[in-house]
Amino acid sequence: MKKAKKIAVIGAGLGGAAVARLLQRSGFDVDVYEQASTFSRIGAGIHVGPNIMKIFREMGLEKELTELGAEPDQWISRHGQTADVLADANLQNYGATYITVHRGDMHALQIESLDQQKLHYGKRLEKVEQNSNDVTLTFIDGTAVTVDLVIGADGINSKIREILLGEEAPTYSGWVAHRALIKGEKLKKLEAEHQLDDCVKWWYQDRHMMAYYTTKEKDEYYYVTGVPHPPLDTQGRSFLPSNHQEMLTAFEGAHPRIQAMIEASEDITIWPLNSRNPLPIWSTGRLVIIGDACHPMKPHMAQGAGMAIEDGAMLTRCLLKTGLDDYETAFKLYEHHRKARATRVQTVSNANTFLKQPENPAWVYGYDIYAEEIQSLQDIRNS
Ligand SMILES: Cc1cc2nc3c(=O)[nH]c(=O)nc-3n(C[C@H](O)[C@H](O)[C@H](O)COP(=O)(O)OP(=O)(O)OC[C@H]3O[C@@H](n4cnc5c(N)ncnc54)[C@H](O)[C@@H]3O)c2cc1C
Repeated sequence: MKKAKKIAVIGAGLGGAAVARLLQRSGFDVDVYEQASTFSRIGAGIHVGPNIMKIFREMGLEKELTELGAEPDQWISRHGQTADVLADANLQNYGATYITVHRGDMHALQIESLDQQKLHYGKRLEKVEQNSNDVTLTFIDGTAVTVDLVIGADGINSKIREILLGEEAPTYSGWVAHRALIKGEKLKKLEAEHQLDDCVKWWYQDRHMMAYYTTKEKDEYYYVTGVPHPPLDTQGRSFLPSNHQEMLTAFEGAHPRIQAMIEASEDITIWPLNSRNPLPIWSTGRLVIIGDACHPMKPHMAQGAGMAIEDGAMLTRCLLKTGLDDYETAFKLYEHHRKARATRVQTVSNANTFLKQPENPAWVYGYDIYAEEIQSLQDIRNS
């Protein structure tokens, strides 16, 4: 009997967990290898646009995810000093719900949806040996597995990207993001004294602050900033602790609502924002990359994870179309269908212009990856 082909996903972040769920539901034999020993609920929110919710529908998780988040009707852009509305984009009529949610809650739902026997924590990938028949992956704990295909969903410092294109550190964008939550009595007091928008981006001088609720009950409010900043030495960590004084200095002279949000927030963290130029190739042999491994971006459009999840959905469609034996065509097809859109989002996100002025966001939110007609295999093979 012919042995079933094995797929390894490296990284169980938002993109890795999505592609693993979609592939497992499609009947593929998929194991996920994650370097972390566990995941915790770090204080951060995330937008899930209708383009992404359509993929959670395919994962069978749409209802559960919608139950976790708030449903803002609009994305409002405000002047950071006067609070004047610069733009107000409708978020809700694109074929699925738009939610804002705690990132940890969404990720936990994704992780729980995976086959738990096939989710392996504490597996930091160290070495990859590929030949014409298979790929052997060696982890830092000394264990090794041999598989047929490898999906690198291992984030901005991807080991798989390094094998495709060589060692190269990502570029510091010159910007940081501060992140913090507001809860309990402090949120009640803030709401009593200020009119909080469900989803708002404050544009202040050369910087901004995005704020929104992260739960259905609206008992948790979150902000994330974009602030120009000299390079930070994080000693390999993704973030460092920040504090009220640093934030108040960064937003000195800004609207009183911004000041009040800073005063009310807890456990402020500061994240350097790194990026890469669009990559010339997305796969080599039996290895392919998705998400931040492939097209990291500044988070100013709130679509970074969205692009990772869209990648996972398209890659699954392509593998279903070709079958695993013809993975080379699947990988070409995947890149063909993803590159233009992911690069456009990456460019707009890095430029930080999205919804600063009135514009129609339908090209982002109205997109349905399952409605896209897949290119003929013959054309792709000949390209
Ligand atoms: C401040 C900030 C705010 C953001 N806000 C939003 C938002 O609102 N909406 C949105 O869509 N996006 C947002 N993003 C972007 C989003 O977080 C990323 O684009 C997204 O997490 C990328 O998913 P990923 O799965 O590709 O990578 P990651 O989520 O980084 O996951 C990579 C995983 O791989 C694991 N890993 C790494 N190396 C190895 C290895 N060698 N072996 C095994 N495992 C490994 C890591 O531990 C991790 O679990 C934001 C980002 C930041 C920094």
